[in-house]
Amino acid sequence: MNYFSLNKKAPNTTFKNAVIKGLAPDKGLYFPESITPLPDSFFKSIDSLSYSEIAFEAIKQFVTPDIPEAVLKDIIEDTLSFDFPVEKITDSISTLELFHGPTMAFKDVGARFMARCLGYFNQNNTNEVTVLVATSGDTGGAVANGFLGVEGVNVVILYPSGKVSDIQEKQLTTLKKNIKALEVHGTFDDCQAMVKRAFLDDTLTSKMQLTSANSINVARWLPQLFYFMFAYKQLHKSYDNIVFSVPSGNFGNICAGMMAQRLGLPVKHFIAANNANAIVYNYLQTQQYEPKPSVQTISNAMDVGDPSNFVRIQELHNNDFETLSKQLSGYSFTDEETIKAIEELYNEYNYIADPHGAVGYLACKSHLKTNPNDHCVFLETAHPTKFLDVVEDTIKENIDLPEQILKVMKKKKRSVEISTYEDLKAFLL
Ligand SMILES: *Cc1c(COP(=O)(O)O)cnc(C)c1O
Repeated sequence: MNYFSLNKKAPNTTFKNAVIKGLAPDKGLYFPESITPLPDSFFKSIDSLSYSEIAFEAIKQFVTPDIPEAVLKDIIEDTLSFDFPVEKITDSISTLELFHGPTMAFKDVGARFMARCLGYFNQNNTNEVTVLVATSGDTGGAVANGFLGVEGVNVVILYPSGKVSDIQEKQLTTLKKNIKALEVHGTFDDCQAMVKRAFLDDTLTSKMQLTSANSINVARWLPQLFYFMFAYKQLHKSYDNIVFSVPSGNFGNICAGMMAQRLGLPVKHFIAANNANAIVYNYLQTQQYEPKPSVQTISNAMDVGDPSNFVRIQELHNNDFETLSKQLSGYSFTDEETIKAIEELYNEYNYIADPHGAVGYLACKSHLKTNPNDHCVFLETAHPTKFLDVVEDTIKENIDLPEQILKVMKKKKRSVEISTYEDLKAFLL
């Protein structure tokens, strides 16, 4: 499959090149040249397919021939080494748990898939690729873990000092080998600005191949479409009108869900669940897309003021507001409402949700008021212990830390402190 730039000012390119470059030379996001729906028989026989078989059929057209089919099967097998269970909350609401991977956030699948693709492309290459990534918390851990030990790939993670949780910091600073953590004296926005500047810096890019590992990269974005198919496999016998409520920040996950729908997955509707950073919610009310500086919330992985994947969602709907607004609704909730939702889920349904999942739950409830015959699935995007303080304070119980977290908390933090772009450049060179 070839990819074009959504800015339309760069040449089309292969999957391999799109993965290695991350962003097109005209700064546009890459998008597949064509999308061929899967046959009806695929969805009718989904019960007889394993998760790996579903994933293979779903993503094959987007990555071959650059990744040969046999290699793709291995990559998928390796990527999907944990479960994606759906838990019933009420007759109308379920949750799809995406936190059973090594760093307990949904970004594990995309990061693992991308790492293995890049490792394959680079296996006979003497020039190393450097993955440069800024994180507000979850991305760094998932990328560090996914890329650990991948030959020919170095990973440099920038995170804001003192502004990620202890668990998140340990997840990104305790791996050795090809993973380096830079602790930036500044905010997440400062980290992101440094990364963006590095990609545009000729003295750097002439000396090294830099790429990004956030959801602008097609190899991190596309595998997320698996989740929606896995949920469908678990739910289609019980419910007809399945809608997904996706806690959204950069809108990569929900956009992948819409891609699954384009491939033929019978999904009735999508709901973008937002915290106070309500850019898309506002757009759906006013037709005006107005990026704003992000505001800090307790669901901090969704604190995004200009969601980068929204252009892909528009492209999937022919850049037509009417078409898009039939498929997508949005809701926005405050931290206060989110905390009440965590409380309600625990007290009434004995379910411990993290703040992101709780926002998804609230959006389900709003949607069901006017669509009582739908079955709404909210994505639980992180394990509640990743947001331990908020969750424990709210449910007034201690939560047992899972194995993955206990292991990492015992390890020693290693980071290099930096303050300026010049520090970053000196480190990379
Ligand atoms: C990254 C993240 C999100 C937002 O996902 P997008 O694809 O950026 O919309 C939501 N919840 C958690 C826990 C995350 O880590």
